[in-house]
Amino acid sequence: MTTAELRPAAPAKGTLPASAAQALWRGFRGRCPACGEGHMFRAFLKVADRCPHCGEELYHHRADDFPAYLVIVIVGHILVPIVLTVETEIAPAIWISMTLWPSLALVMTLGLLQPVKGAVVAIQWYGGMHGFEAAKKARALAVAADVG
Ligand SMILES: [Zn+2]
Repeated sequence: MTTAELRPAAPAKGTLPASAAQALWRGFRGRCPACGEGHMFRAFLKVADRCPHCGEELYHHRADDFPAYLVIVIVGHILVPIVLTVETEIAPAIWISMTLWPSLALVMTLGLLQPVKGAVVAIQWYGGMHGFEAAKKARALAVAADVG
């Protein structure tokens, strides 16, 4: 196997994100951080091995439980003040509280899990973390070749 075979397929020039924020936004929308076109996920929380559009390797991510922790923090910071305000100001019937708050927490959690995981994978990709290091070096070389 040659080094060219080990090198990840480079996305088309001009499609690479200009900033970490752009890569994060692409990941949040479930898109490939490299090209912004291909779908990052092959199932609800399963990251595709490669981008179906540009071939960028995505299986290097190590998101693990971090997206779940972030979702807990986000949902907690949004929901707890709302619950406290409603329960002290309005004090709805107990059956409303016992159905509304868990349902709202479930909907928010399921709605945020994939976008947050996509953002975590995109940031790992942009930062060259874990196995993404080779892809980051290839991007830096491509940019340097364009400039020089
Ligand atoms: Zn792509």
